[in-house]
Amino acid sequence: MPRPIEALIHRDALSHNLARARAAAGGARVFAVVKANAYGHGIERVYEALRGADGFALLDLAEASTLRALGWRGPVLLLEGTFDARDLETCSRLNLWHTVHHDAQIDWLSRHKTQQPHRVFLKLNSGMNRLGFAPLSFRSAWARLEALPQVDEITLMSHFADADGERGVAAQLAVFEQAAADLPGERTLANSAALLRHAGTTAADWVRPGIMVYGSAPDHPEYDATHWGLQPAMTLRARLIAVQTLAAGAAVGYGGQFVAPQALRIGVVACGYADGYPRLAPTGTPVLVDGVRTRTVGRVSMDMIAVDLTPVPQAEAGSEVTLWGRGPRDSLLPIDEVAHAAGTVGYELMCALASRVPVHLD
Ligand SMILES: *Cc1c(COP(=O)(O)O)cnc(C)c1O
Repeated sequence: MPRPIEALIHRDALSHNLARARAAAGGARVFAVVKANAYGHGIERVYEALRGADGFALLDLAEASTLRALGWRGPVLLLEGTFDARDLETCSRLNLWHTVHHDAQIDWLSRHKTQQPHRVFLKLNSGMNRLGFAPLSFRSAWARLEALPQVDEITLMSHFADADGERGVAAQLAVFEQAAADLPGERTLANSAALLRHAGTTAADWVRPGIMVYGSAPDHPEYDATHWGLQPAMTLRARLIAVQTLAAGAAVGYGGQFVAPQALRIGVVACGYADGYPRLAPTGTPVLVDGVRTRTVGRVSMDMIAVDLTPVPQAEAGSEVTLWGRGPRDSLLPIDEVAHAAGTVGYELMCALASRVPVHLD
């Protein structure tokens, strides 16, 4: 028997979440963001459920070619654009739309030989200071692109640093509106957080939801996925492979960091950090055993975690353990709660699902 751990990808949840994104977007067209192998879910696995999107956005050229090989003929946007001049040949061959965020990318385009002019997304650095032209050089970059025979349409683009937080989008939006004023072309600004929290001002012509499509709330713990009407697209589940009865004072796991205050039954789960479970998840991180909520105890090790069986006295070796996602009898453990306990975000846990975990479609 294979080691009892698996991940499930819930296609019904993906379609549901995409529909949520579309509803929030008003009339804007929707890029489903599938970078990082669809946030760890697998591009091939999510493709059917998400093909109702108007386009896909990602940043790895190999992933773009996977989408084309799957038969997708619609828009594919490279969010970081080209990494060298030769990438433009791939863009021409696969008809990829690409972001332009620095001058060298324009130089490469100006020397590129193509039959078909490219659609480009000119990126403004509106305050995040990661990618994009500064407001003062935005118009000259636009004019350079506009003059190139290699360029067809130019869409104006920016990205928010704090759409999920207190600062919100207003300041960056004002910078964008000023820099883009009276430039023609479509606009795209919103990630999931902007779309859920600020759709009225940010939806524009295209939106770019990522994390919400996978059923995680971009602004947890202020709001959770249920609040936003999102369903988890990934479940990580395993089984108990041992049960131990601890006497008061007995310690669990490496470093003996958890000491039982009284006699305690614990279960040992076939899941550890080599499966993608976060090693920094402390004692008390939520977990479901047989669909009943309990907590981890002691350090996460490479292949195992210990869990408190006090709320599930009937549990035994073989009992089902939900690390995140959907559990038995309609139980649910949001990935965001596990991530929060471990000091990280749902994004990171999804993306870190290890290749040794078998993944099944649901
Ligand atoms: C990743 C990414 C998104 C999607 O962000 P989410 O927070 O996952 O919705 C949108 N736009 C750009 C430029 C990105 O890099």
